[in-house]
Amino acid sequence: ELLALKKELDKEFEEIKAQGLALDMSRGKPSNAQLELSMEMMDVLKGNSDLKCETGVDCRNYGVIDGIPEAKRLLGEMSEVDPEHIIIYGNSSLNVMFDSIARSMTQGVMGNTPWCKLDKVKFLCPVPGYDRHFKITEFFGIEMINVPMTPQGPDMDMVEKLVAEDPAIKGIWCVPKYSNPQGITFSDEVVERIAALNPSAEDFRIIWDNAYCVHDLTDDGDKLANIFDILPKYNNEDMVIEVCSTAKITFPGAGVSAIIASDNNIAAIKKRLNVETISYDKMNQQRHVQFFKNADGVRAHMKKHAKILKPKFDMVINHLEKELGGKGIASWFKPKGGYFISLDVMNGCAKRVGELCKEVGVTLTNVGATYPYGYDYDDKNIRIAPSYPPIDELDMAAELLCICTQLACIEKLVG
Ligand code: PLP
Repeated sequence: ELLALKKELDKEFEEIKAQGLALDMSRGKPSNAQLELSMEMMDVLKGNSDLKCETGVDCRNYGVIDGIPEAKRLLGEMSEVDPEHIIIYGNSSLNVMFDSIARSMTQGVMGNTPWCKLDKVKFLCPVPGYDRHFKITEFFGIEMINVPMTPQGPDMDMVEKLVAEDPAIKGIWCVPKYSNPQGITFSDEVVERIAALNPSAEDFRIIWDNAYCVHDLTDDGDKLANIFDILPKYNNEDMVIEVCSTAKITFPGAGVSAIIASDNNIAAIKKRLNVETISYDKMNQQRHVQFFKNADGVRAHMKKHAKILKPKFDMVINHLEKELGGKGIASWFKPKGGYFISLDVMNGCAKRVGELCKEVGVTLTNVGATYPYGYDYDDKNIRIAPSYPPIDELDMAAELLCICTQLACIEKLVG
C-alpha cells in the first residue's frame, strides 16, 4: 500500500519538478504589502521645522544617548515596562544582543570576571529556536546546551537543575512570546519559574527577546506575563535583559530597537554607551513617534499586518491539516502570532524533506538551523516562514512541502 502511494507521489513530484518553480519560504521577512503599510512614516517629518524632542534637544543633531523620552514612552507602552528602564538603540535588536554578549565577554557583567577569562562559558538554548541567537553564542565560543521546548515554554525542570548545578552556565536565550519558530508563548507558570531561577552563576543573564510582543494574528492573541513585575519577588531584578524592536512593525533593518533592564544593568550599559556612540538615530525615533503617537497606534497598525498575514498562516495550516493530518508522520503548532510555523516530521526525515523541496524549487530555511551548530539531533524540525511569498505562491509551496514530507517519510518507512 505504501509502495503504491509512493509511486503516486513520485509521479506527482516529477510533474511538478518539470515546471521549474522558484518558491521561497525561507526567511521571516514582511511582504511588500506589509512594508507599504508604513510608507507614510517617511512623510511625517516633512514641513516640520521644529524637530526638537520634548526636552528641547534638536533631533537633527548629536545628543541624548539613551533615546528621546517620547520614543522611550512609545516602546515602554508597547512592551509594558516603565520608560525609565529603557534605552533606545539603533536599527536592530540582534545587534543589541550581540553587543550584550560581547560586553559580557570582554568587560564582564556588573563587576564579575569577564567571560573571556573563564575556562568555560555555557548558554542554555531552548530548541527549536532562533538561528541567529545560536550564531552569536557560537561566534564567541560559548558552549550551547539544548533545552527542549514544551508547549508552555522551555523545559523548566531541566533549566532549574542545570543553572543551579553549573556556574559555567551564564545565560539562556528566550523568545517568550510567539517563539521563533514554534509560535509558543511562555505560560504564566514558566515565566514565574524563570523569574524565580536560582543560578549558581552570579552573572547569569536571561536574554528575553520580545521580538514578537505585539505581533498577534487574531484578536484573542496570547498574553505574556510581565517578567519585570515578578522578578522583585525573588530579588532577581538584574537577571533579565529584554530586547525588542520595531523591525517587523515598520521596516526591518530600518526600525528602532530597545533594551529593557533593571537600574543596575541600565547604569552599567550607559557607562559603555558613551564610548560606543555619540547618539543613535533620533530622526528615526521621531518618525516612529509621530507616525504611531502611542501604543494604541502601534496596535492598530499591527491589525493591518495581521490582516495580510493571517490568511497566509491559515493557508499553510490548512495544507498541513488536510495533507498530513492524522497520518502520524508530522506535527505542528497553530500559532496565534509571530512569524513562523514549525513543522516536526518523522525523526530522520527533515533533511530529506529539505532536499526534495529544493528539487521541486521550494526554498526552506536551512534544515537544522533551528538548533545550535545547525545540528538537529533528531533531524525532524522544519521552519516555515509564510510571510513573504504572495498567497498563490505560498499555496503551491505549502502543497509541495506536504508532498515532499510524505515522500521522505515513505522512503524512510520502506527503507
Ligand atoms: N529576534 C527574533 C526572535 C527574530 O525572529 C528576529 C528576526 O527574525 C530578530 C530578533 C531580529 O530583530 P532585529 O531586526 O530587530 O535585529
